[in-house]
Amino acid sequence: MEYSEVAEKYAELEGISGRNEMTRVLAELLEHTPKSELPLLVYMTQGKLRPDYEGVELGLAEKLALRALVSASGLSQEKVYSTYVKLGDLGSAAEELLKNKSQGTLFSEGLTLKRVYDTLLRVARQSGSGSVDAKLRELASLLNDATPLEARFIMRTVTGELRLGVADYTVLDAAATAFLGGKQARGPLERAYNVHPDLGFVVASVASKGAKGIEGVGVEVGVPIRPMLAERLSSADAIVKKMGDKRVTAEYKLDGERLQIHKEGGKVSLFSRRLEVITSHYPDATELVAKHVRARRAILEAEVVAINEDTGEYLPFQELMHRRRKYGIEQAIADYPVALNFFDILLAGSADLTGKPYTFRRKKLVELVEATERTRLVPATTTSDPKEIEQFMEEAIENGCEGLVVKDPGSSYRAGAREFAWIKLKREYRSELTDTIDLVVVGAFHGRGRRAGRYGTYLLATRDEARDVFTSVAKVGTGFSDQDLEKIPKLLKPYESSVKPPGVESNMVPDVWFRPHMVIEIIAAELTLSPIHTAAMGRIRPGAGISLRFPKFTGKVRGDKGPEDATTVEEIVGMYNRQLKKVEAVQ
Ligand code: ATP
Repeated sequence: MEYSEVAEKYAELEGISGRNEMTRVLAELLEHTPKSELPLLVYMTQGKLRPDYEGVELGLAEKLALRALVSASGLSQEKVYSTYVKLGDLGSAAEELLKNKSQGTLFSEGLTLKRVYDTLLRVARQSGSGSVDAKLRELASLLNDATPLEARFIMRTVTGELRLGVADYTVLDAAATAFLGGKQARGPLERAYNVHPDLGFVVASVASKGAKGIEGVGVEVGVPIRPMLAERLSSADAIVKKMGDKRVTAEYKLDGERLQIHKEGGKVSLFSRRLEVITSHYPDATELVAKHVRARRAILEAEVVAINEDTGEYLPFQELMHRRRKYGIEQAIADYPVALNFFDILLAGSADLTGKPYTFRRKKLVELVEATERTRLVPATTTSDPKEIEQFMEEAIENGCEGLVVKDPGSSYRAGAREFAWIKLKREYRSELTDTIDLVVVGAFHGRGRRAGRYGTYLLATRDEARDVFTSVAKVGTGFSDQDLEKIPKLLKPYESSVKPPGVESNMVPDVWFRPHMVIEIIAAELTLSPIHTAAMGRIRPGAGISLRFPKFTGKVRGDKGPEDATTVEEIVGMYNRQLKKVEAVQ
């Protein structure tokens, strides 16, 4: 398939904001794409090269991208940079600059989708010495053969800034339209995607094997499952009521990192909440699983928590984050020992357990996990009495937990869903009006006084899922330790941007912009309406967004979350409405 055809469709998609229209255009494109190239097309349309869980990262640094553009256009560095700043994004700059290029391209071959894809994959995978030059050469040669329109999309893709607004569910709708006769057939596709989150694979399966092929997609060792998530409510009473006034099971909500554990014989792989492979962070955990899980093949979920080796007590999340390092892991294992706390099982032997009720799965866990100092089942209690749940909550907090996750005993494992089958109850809900929320750092302001020469405050954004953008919600300057003030700018450095990054919506202009990458945890006194911040703009009142009052950094950089996992605008609106109800109830 010619890349020009793809680029033209991208240009069309860019101009569309309605989801129906977008689905229609995308469905057409899918129908036109040879089956063997469907996965390539699907990944690329979302600005990716492989499913997320394989960890192939696009996101060439701004500086390198500009150098490639200098080389491909034959223009001066100044001209290239000033065009970039004037137009505000690398894609438009590439298009503009290559328009004026002498027509050497007339003799070059047209680009195919496959060539663009293969080249970008090589660029993304190169690392080590000499890789910078190799990346530059590859990219410049691609740009050399590209038309200006193609260059626009190649540049945006390679820098990780292709934002066509094509969400996962839009691709599923389009695939249902193209291959199953209509959007209404999306359900089975969605189920397949939740248990096998590789959109390229799912779309190619339905294209070649139809509905039957999709039914056959199941849980598989080595392919992470999208995690089931919890809703939130603010009291045990409300939770028991919501679950239908019956017996429910409350479990400790441990303050660690979620692990999805895949075991096949002696081989154990670990996936994070974001489905990244993190096996190398926890060699000790993989050993524990190999030793103490009595199943040849299994997929389990556990919260890994740092512990005090002498007392067995749980330690806070920050301790665990010392384990997120590339070097010196042996030392980190000795300094920060961990325990695995199992709370679910999704596959045992050849049996897919996701459709079984929670009680069945918990029993299976008891059967298969040998309880040791380092491998435990998450403490749980079953009751219909809210008072008992409150008590259990106090006990959990005493023991260093964040609170509870209450589970509906009859519920199946709903991959990828945040529903009321699991409901979390945290201490903060009771003293503060809002829960902690996880926000994306999109900018920073220089500090003054004690913070001169460093960043004083950060601009934070929520995720607007429906529109695939990040909207500003707060400026935060409190809660940072001296160590945080040193460390955070270093972590953010690779994501600096000279212009407002595409996909960020903010009326405030910080001193430095960052591409959405880092997620930090924030607690606030309450949510208020704001004429400045763009989160949920117009949703509660025309001309007003929602912002946080007295936001404070909790000390947690959520290394286990990416921008796509940040708190969403929908959640913020939900919290605002619940807060309003509470205030009204008090008045
Ligand atoms: P939070 O920011 O509160 O950790 P989250 O957005 O990461 O929430 P939620 O679905 O809201 O995810 O909360 C569930 C998270 O709590 C899980 O991802 C897991 O890491 C953690 N957790 C701790 N104990 C349990 C448990 N017993 N059952 C399920 N999840 C648990």
